[in-house]
Order: sequence, then structure tokens, then C-alpha cells
Amino acid sequence: MPLAQTLTTVPVVVDNEKCIAEKGCTVCVDVCPLDVLRISDITQKAYMAYDECWYCMPCAVDCPTSAVTVNIPYLLK
Ligand code: SF4
Ligand code: SF4
Repeated sequence: MPLAQTLTTVPVVVDNEKCIAEKGCTVCVDVCPLDVLRISDITQKAYMAYDECWYCMPCAVDCPTSAVTVNIPYLLK
């Protein structure tokens, strides 16, 4: 059985190596119109708290470190 290709099944994935939320960044959380992104109390990194997404992209575009990947479903491309 192949290894999972992503760490999670939610459409928006944050690279914890790049995310600088622990330094006070909340850009992705602030720009998301659905309010589905959060900063984890445990990891101090951003993550997708709810599996809802409009694929509108500001979270990825505005992230200062390019830590956010939005996996747009094939049928929406
Ligand atoms: S905008 Fe980028 S660096 Fe800032 S909290 Fe979100 S993922 Fe982390
Ligand atoms: S693509 Fe849009 S709706 Fe989805 S998490 Fe990013 S800002 Fe929120």
C-alpha cells in the first residue's frame, strides 16, 4: 500500500517548516472569508480547522512565506 501523499485530507495544507505563526503572523487566518483557518495552540502553526473551502486563494497568495498550499479539486480547475 503506498504511503499517503499528503499529511491530511483537508484541501488546505500548511508547511510547518515555513509557517511563522509563532512569530505573530495570522495573515491566512485573517484573510480567509470562511474563517476555517486557525493557529494551533499545540504547534503554534496555522492549520485548516474545518474542511470547507471556496478555493479563493488569498490564504496562499498572501502568506509571506508561501507556506500555504491549496489543493484545488481537479473538477474545479
Ligand atoms: S500566513 Fe503563512 S506564515 Fe502566516 S500564519 Fe498563515 S501559513 Fe503561517
Ligand atoms: S482558499 Fe479561500 S476559503 Fe479556502 S482556506 Fe484559503 S482563504 Fe479560506
